[in-house]
Amino acid sequence: MQFRDLQKQYNTLKPDIDQAVSQVLASSNFISGPQVTQLEEELAAYTGTKHCITCANGTDALTLALMVWDIGPGDAVFVPDFTFFASAEAPALQGAAPVFVDVEEDTFNISPASLEEAVLRVKEEGKLVPRVVVAVDLFGQPANYPEIRKIAEKYGLLILEDAAQGFGGRIGDKKACSFGDISTTSFFPAKPLGCYGDGGAVFTDNEEWAGLLRSYRVHGKGADKYDNVRIGVNSRLDTLQAAVLLVKLRALREYELDRVNLAACRYTEGFEGWGDYIKTPVVKDGFYSSWAQYSVLLRDEEMRDGLQAFLKEKGIPTMIYYPKTMSRQTAFKGTGCVMTDLSAAQDLCRRVLAFPMHPCITEKEQGQVTEEVKAFLKNRGK
Ligand SMILES: *Cc1c(COP(=O)(O)O)cnc(C)c1O
Repeated sequence: MQFRDLQKQYNTLKPDIDQAVSQVLASSNFISGPQVTQLEEELAAYTGTKHCITCANGTDALTLALMVWDIGPGDAVFVPDFTFFASAEAPALQGAAPVFVDVEEDTFNISPASLEEAVLRVKEEGKLVPRVVVAVDLFGQPANYPEIRKIAEKYGLLILEDAAQGFGGRIGDKKACSFGDISTTSFFPAKPLGCYGDGGAVFTDNEEWAGLLRSYRVHGKGADKYDNVRIGVNSRLDTLQAAVLLVKLRALREYELDRVNLAACRYTEGFEGWGDYIKTPVVKDGFYSSWAQYSVLLRDEEMRDGLQAFLKEKGIPTMIYYPKTMSRQTAFKGTGCVMTDLSAAQDLCRRVLAFPMHPCITEKEQGQVTEEVKAFLKNRGK
């Protein structure tokens, strides 16, 4: 069994992908080919945003957004303590101070209450200027944007939606990648919309920022190709990746999102009645997840580690996202960015476990996972 079966997905899409790739090879228009523009138009239309600017990866997408807002030394950027490193790395790379914020135990996403507390602490201390909140759509579920927006407006913060794992999710009819003042995503192969290498995108409704993003993405280019008007980076999405993504976007829209949601329901139903030992993921009312991960909580670390070892023996792969919070990362040691209690994030690291999840997972495979989990819990859980 595979944790995320990209081969099976490729075999399903093979005729279309092979044709799309051959077309690029035949045209040899490897950089900035027409597929890149087409993809940007389709992504903007799908997410309901005015502008989509593709780039080389999801980390660059965050960096580009922070460059546009001129975030740097002296600025506080609020980041959930429970996320992938890049969410905090990008602001730190710009010289800003990441301020870690606790998460909600049930959705794993940034806690609005903890965010407000951290903003107040930063203001009270008076050393940093609160500028941005990086809200992460962890494991596929959008963060609580209605609440985050209220706090952002109250304290004058910009919202940077890190939807690297959130593409395809929504709140009501509003799609992920449209919740931030600027939003970003990643096309790393294992993300909900993955390409065959690295890729990313930035989304915004703001015309001026979109223009700056297009400039920063290609060496700070100006109107004249050989007059560069600002210091930028080289962060393009290449044509081959765009061609692959056009095919995969169609599959995601037509059936993949339905399939992962069905698979999530199956797992959750499979664990019904086992709530004393295993807590299944919660999707808020009116929210829709793209299930980048299906992560459960075990009672404690010993049980989690025991279960993971047991499943490994049975040929069932699992992952721990994440074993270490941001504030405990070696790179952030001594930078003093902890202002508030982060105990929910710490606790999740000890108890979280992700099961195999992808659009091609079968009912039989899922049955095997739930049966083996229960076999373990029956013996050692009580
Ligand atoms: C994967 C990921 C990123 C970084 O994306 P890359 O394309 O790998 O650079 C950023 N934030 C989160 C939450 C991610 O999961």
